[in-house]
Amino acid sequence: MSGKHFDMIVLGGGSGGLAVAERASQHGKRVAVVEPTALGGTCVNVGCVPKKVMWYAANLAHDRADAVDWGFPEAPGAVDFGTLTKKRREFIAGITNFWNGYAKDLDLEVLEGYGRLAGDNKVDVDGTTYTADHIVISTGGRPLVPPVPGAEHGITSDGFFELDELPERTAVIGGGYIGVELAGVLRSLGSEVTLLDMLDTVLAPFDPLIRETATENLHQLGIETHLPYKVSKLEKTDEGTIIHGADGETLGPFDQVIWAVGRKPNTDDIGLDKAGVEVEKNGMIPVDAYQNTNVPGIYAIGDIIGKYPLTPVAIAAGRRLSDRLFDGQNDAHLEYETIPTVVFAHPALGTVGLTEPQAVERFGKKLVTVYETTFTPMRYALSSHGFKTAMKLVCVGKEERVAGLHIVGDGADEMLQGFAVAVKAGLTKGQFDDTVALHPTSAEELVTLKTPRD
Ligand SMILES: Cc1cc2nc3c(=O)[nH]c(=O)nc-3n(C[C@H](O)[C@H](O)[C@H](O)COP(=O)(O)OP(=O)(O)OC[C@H]3O[C@@H](n4cnc5c(N)ncnc54)[C@H](O)[C@@H]3O)c2cc1C
Repeated sequence: MSGKHFDMIVLGGGSGGLAVAERASQHGKRVAVVEPTALGGTCVNVGCVPKKVMWYAANLAHDRADAVDWGFPEAPGAVDFGTLTKKRREFIAGITNFWNGYAKDLDLEVLEGYGRLAGDNKVDVDGTTYTADHIVISTGGRPLVPPVPGAEHGITSDGFFELDELPERTAVIGGGYIGVELAGVLRSLGSEVTLLDMLDTVLAPFDPLIRETATENLHQLGIETHLPYKVSKLEKTDEGTIIHGADGETLGPFDQVIWAVGRKPNTDDIGLDKAGVEVEKNGMIPVDAYQNTNVPGIYAIGDIIGKYPLTPVAIAAGRRLSDRLFDGQNDAHLEYETIPTVVFAHPALGTVGLTEPQAVERFGKKLVTVYETTFTPMRYALSSHGFKTAMKLVCVGKEERVAGLHIVGDGADEMLQGFAVAVKAGLTKGQFDDTVALHPTSAEELVTLKTPRD
C-alpha cells in the first residue's frame, strides 16, 4: 500500500527524532515521525527521566536518615516502593501525553508502527510505503545482554523500571554510568547491592580522580564491589540467582541480577541494506560532521552514530540538522567536543573536556598542569558519615587554558553546567581565579585552587 509524501520522515520518536521533527515543522515542513512505542524514546520512558525520579527518591532517603544526626526525630521507615514506582509511572505518562498533544500542535504526523528503509526515498511502516525528500534515522538503542548461559535470569535497565518491589539483594553487572546509577538508587532505597565489572574500575572513561573518589563513595554507601569480575554464567536456584565467575568464584544468591553492560543500536532490522546505508560492524551508522550518511538524503542522529549517547547531544544534532536543511543555515552542525556529562551517582559526578591522561597524551606531560582537591563538604558537618567531594582542573599550555574539569560530590550535576560554558569558551585558570568565589559552597573551590599538583 502506498501512503503520503512528506518533506521529512523521521524513524524513531525519541530525543533526537522529536527534536529534528519539531524544528523541521517549525520551519514549515510536512513531517512524519514513525514510532512503534510511546513518543519520548529511551530518555522519557526508560532512561534519564524515570532514573532521575528514582535518584531524587534515593537522595530523600539519605537526607531523612542523615537528618537524625542533625537533631531531627527518628526517620519513619523505608520507602513504599510500590507507591514510588506508581507515582513515577504517572509522571512519565504525563510527559508522553504532553508529547502526543504537542505533536498534534506541531502538525507532525505520527505513524504508529515499525519503520524500515525501503530504498529510493521510501520508508515502509508495517506494510504501507511512504516517501520523503529527507529521511532521518534516529532509532536509538536497547540494552545489551551478553550470550552467557543463564543470561535470561537477569533483567536490564528496562526491567529495572518494571520492578514493583524493591529487591532485597541485587547484583548489578557493569560499572558504567547506568550500572553505577542503578546500584546507587537500589542501595539508597534499602537493597543490599553488589556491583561487578570485568574491568578493575568502575566508570572507566572518567578521570582517575573521579573514578577513585566515586568508588570510595560507592563503598561508603554500602555497595560491595568486585573489580575485576567476569561473569561466566547465571544460575537460578530456590534461594535466588547465583553468579558464576570465569575464575570459579561464585556470588549470591540474589533476588535480582541487572545487566548493565552496554547498549546495542537499533539498526539491525531497519532496511539499511535496501537503501544502501553503510553500517559499522558494531551496528553504528557512520556520518560526516553534518549527520549525512553515505546516501544523499538519509541522515542519522543520536545514539546510533556511536558518539556521546546522551539526550542533549541527540537533540542538538537534530535541531541543527533541520536548521541546515530547511532554514538555509548551511553550516549548522554539532561539534562533538567539550560535551559535558553527568552521572547521577550518590553523590553525582560530572565531567567536561579532557581527562588528565587524555590531556597528557594529546599535549605531552610538560604542557599539562593539574589542580585538584578532595574534601568532605560542609553538608556533612554534623553528620556521622559524609560522601567525599573531589575536583580537578586539567590545564594546558603556558596560559593554562582549562581543557578539562571534573567534579564528584554533592551538587556536581548542577555545578557542571555553568563551568562547561567556561571550558567551552576556552577560559584560562587565571580567568577562573579572577572570578569572585561564592561562599560557603563546594563550587568555590573551582575558582580558588592555588597550588598545582606535582
Ligand atoms: C537507564 C538510562 C539512563 C539514561 N540517563 C541519561 C541521562 O541522565 N542523561 C542523558 O543525557 N542521557 C541519558 N541516557 C541516554 C539517553 O536516553 C539517550 O542518549 C537518548 O535517548 C538517545 O536518543 P535517540 O533519539 O538516539 O534514541 P531514543 O531516545 O532511544 O529513541 C529511539 C526511538 O526509536 C524507536 N524505534 C526503534 N526502532 C524503530 C523503527 N524501526 N522504526 C521507528 N522507530 C523505531 C524507539 O522505540 C525509540 O522510541 C540514559 C539511557 C538509559 C538507558
